[in-house]
Amino acid sequence: MEEKITILKEWIENSNNIVFFGGAGVSTESGIPDFRSVDGLYNQKYDYPPETILSHTFFWRKTEEFYRFYRDKMIIDNVKPNAAHLKLAEWEEQGKLKAVITQNIDGLHQLAGSKEVMELHGSVHRNYCDKCHAFYGIDAITGCEGVPRCPACGGVIKPDVVLYEEGLDDTTISKSIQYIANADILIIGGTSLAVWPAAGLIDYYRGDKLVLINKSQTQRETRANLVIEGKIGEVMSRL
Ligand code: NAD
Repeated sequence: MEEKITILKEWIENSNNIVFFGGAGVSTESGIPDFRSVDGLYNQKYDYPPETILSHTFFWRKTEEFYRFYRDKMIIDNVKPNAAHLKLAEWEEQGKLKAVITQNIDGLHQLAGSKEVMELHGSVHRNYCDKCHAFYGIDAITGCEGVPRCPACGGVIKPDVVLYEEGLDDTTISKSIQYIANADILIIGGTSLAVWPAAGLIDYYRGDKLVLINKSQTQRETRANLVIEGKIGEVMSRL
């Protein structure tokens, strides 16, 4: 581990074109559960699997039930960025990091100070009326019970989050591909790389400094130039 940290430190010192690609594991040290860890949402018991609840069909067929799960599990009160979020913001401020590409919807990178954040799956902080398209913050969801309704027209308010069966935003995808394709160092952290098409984006990387930081093995380790097994907040605080 020590040796790998030393190598990564040296790469980072000499680069001004780092791109970070992350997932739910980046926020577990802030207290937000991921999906696939042993204590993740997939291993907790609900009437339906999380993929079903967080799907477009389920949202419209069982909106109230969707919101019960969503408020309970996807919106966590008083969470703060951890050492991983803070380090990435610091690198951007220093001109070393070009962008954070995240599958997370929690907004913690922005809270840490990151500016160039590609939110592949949207954000719990943005919500809109499905009928008149008025935009609302997170209070529109947390400040009421049941199905949140648009005060202006009575339409259903939907989170600006990419649900299963929904497509990703084209502009976000193409900007992410551009950042990855041109990156000097690509650091991938806290993701099982099991959710597509997001996981496929890392294949656009052409360099020779692909770093994986994860607390468990992922499906794509053979391609990596450096694999660090550990908690990402702990690892990044040492860089
Ligand atoms: P995942 O749950 O499939 O995988 C998380 C990975 O991170 C696992 O491999 C796990 O071992 C690892 N991990 C967990 N804690 C870690 C830590 N402290 N340090 C290093 N590694 C750690 O998550 P995913 O790959 O992001 O895909 C799941 C989908 O769920 C994504 O689309 C994401 O949008 C969504 N999601 C988001 C949040 C969030 O916004 N915080 C939370 C849960 C799920």
